[in-house]
Amino acid sequence: MIHMRDVSKIYENGVLALDHVSIDIGKGEFVFVVGASGAGKSTFIKMLFREELPTSGELEVNGHDVVRMEHSEVPYLRRGLGVIFQDYRLLPDKTVFENVAFAMQVIEAPRRLMQRSVNAVLDVVGLRDKYKNFPSQLSGGEQQRVAIARAIVNDPAIVIADEPTGNLDPETSWDIMDIFQRINAAGTTIVMATHDKTIVDTMQRRVVAIEDGHIVRDEAQGVYGYEV
Ligand code: ADP
Repeated sequence: MIHMRDVSKIYENGVLALDHVSIDIGKGEFVFVVGASGAGKSTFIKMLFREELPTSGELEVNGHDVVRMEHSEVPYLRRGLGVIFQDYRLLPDKTVFENVAFAMQVIEAPRRLMQRSVNAVLDVVGLRDKYKNFPSQLSGGEQQRVAIARAIVNDPAIVIADEPTGNLDPETSWDIMDIFQRINAAGTTIVMATHDKTIVDTMQRRVVAIEDGHIVRDEAQGVYGYEV
């Protein structure tokens, strides 16, 4: 599903953000990526949807050769991925329904299929009754649930999340994690960068710890590992 071999990333300013990182993530896994601020978590996450390219090394995501692929292939890579950010990134002038439908219009889905799929994912995140609301009319947790609905509407093989609970209170964060658990139980691979020690320690999933651009720990049922 994800095969990373000896991947390094040097930014244009000379910062070595990832240093010969190798990792394999299989279908259906739930992986937390943890580490201090500046460790390289976001860089690692951004490689997966080709927001950043490795400077060297090999990376295969969902059958795509991320390093060698043509630019025209990038949309095919991204169609198989659902990406979720800390700051939700919804379109402010579109409703909940439109924000989710927009992700499908991009792939030119037939209208009836689109409506059915949008309603179904709004059910998954418990927001069907708010389909007419604009993002500004929703709480942070609700906005993140819309972002999750948008991420899963095309039935991606992998959901990639960068600090998805970073702006949320603990209770709302657990609502988000419950949704992730359900999505994962249905077979979707989840890779989530997080600072949330309680979530990581409670869920006992695979934990990959990054420090100074290196993977320093990779445990099947891990914990966050140090106090924050
Ligand atoms: P984390 O997500 O763990 O906080 P990042 O992957 O964002 O870490 O950053 C890793 C290192 O790369 C840091 O030193 C950071 O300053 C640097 N970095 C991140 N993005 C860029 C960029 N676009 N240009 C230059 N340096 C960057």
